[in-house]
Amino acid sequence: MPMQTANFYTINHSNYPVKTIGILGGGQLGMMLAQAALPLGIRCVFLEDSANCPARLLGKVFSSKQFEDFAQSCDIFTLEFENTPLKPAQFLESTKTLYPSSFALSVAQDRLNEKNLFNQLDIATVPFMAVHNKADIQAAAAKVGLPLVLKTTRGGYDGKGQFVVKSTDQIDTAWAELGGATKTAPLIAEGFIHFEREVSIIAVRAQNGEIRYYPLVQNEHSNGILAKSTAPAPNVEQLTEQAQSNIKKLLEHLNYVGVLTLELFVTSEGGAEKLLANEIAPRVHNSGHWSIEGAVTSQFENHIRAVAGLPLGDTSIVKPSVMLNIIGKYPKLTDVLAIEGVHVHNYDKEEREGRKIAHITVMPSDSSQLDNTVAQVVAKLPNKLSD
Ligand code: AMP
Repeated sequence: MPMQTANFYTINHSNYPVKTIGILGGGQLGMMLAQAALPLGIRCVFLEDSANCPARLLGKVFSSKQFEDFAQSCDIFTLEFENTPLKPAQFLESTKTLYPSSFALSVAQDRLNEKNLFNQLDIATVPFMAVHNKADIQAAAAKVGLPLVLKTTRGGYDGKGQFVVKSTDQIDTAWAELGGATKTAPLIAEGFIHFEREVSIIAVRAQNGEIRYYPLVQNEHSNGILAKSTAPAPNVEQLTEQAQSNIKKLLEHLNYVGVLTLELFVTSEGGAEKLLANEIAPRVHNSGHWSIEGAVTSQFENHIRAVAGLPLGDTSIVKPSVMLNIIGKYPKLTDVLAIEGVHVHNYDKEEREGRKIAHITVMPSDSSQLDNTVAQVVAKLPNKLSD
């Protein structure tokens, strides 16, 4: 018997002809996008070479060998992974629509492009310099000071592809560790910022140009990997307007459609707190997972609405929440679910050190119990959060 696939007959699609969204990538972000699309009567399929990917639970997964079938079976395309190769993305864009565009993708795939764009749009960053050879690292030490953070311009994630150079004797080691630079892919040297905290802002832009902002979220990392997001971030009244203005400039310059994330350092060097932009993610983001329960409309649903040409949903907070990433090893589900106000999202990935395999959103009905409930959940996690 051929496998039956579900059809959506209940929703009249006549005024939004998008029924199938093709997503480049099939990780947990794709899985959660598809979860959000389902109640809207929109299904998602995925282009992904890992057959065991989380998105397989929600829709058909096409391998890159099946690219043509993938391309034909979708009305429109989006992405959940910014390191997706540019060429197929450009091809899809030339035949149908890709949101966000391959131009936005090309900016976000390269830390130098990204930081140059920040400066062009008058968005403050740490001092930085392109590094083509070891002599450039010496020059960077003089320009941005030591320590400096040497990073690959492409492909880095979760703190990978970085080396903190504390003294010029480390130049050879740093160069070797990052695999050096090539003509097309230089390294970037950034001043090391002694930030007070890290925050991110997520915004969504519709096809008609309307923009909505989620509240600023505070992020804590453990070994370079996001461990905890607090929504809303505390004490950001002075910073919110600047964060919104920064992301608005980016959304408008890129003529962006969908969800965009901007990661920022908060520094108080030289007096009052101010924001320095670190990087953008042209997609839904780990620091927005709280929004599934914690916002009126989640980042996932708003991304689907934007790319499908639907009206955007309310981005306000329902209640303060904290999102904890489960990294490497699963906790005992019954222990975690026995705590009131806890939501578990399992990505059905195999346990592996340093891998994000699930997240938990803590949102007790009595918000005064938030910190206490977070502590109870953390006590049940096999991998404790560390600095
Ligand atoms: P990234 O891959 O750029 O997001 O960096 C991962 C993490 O490394 C950031 O979240 C920061 O905690 C830290 N980091 C990155 N760049 C710098 C910098 N220039 N100065 C200090 N810490 C940094």
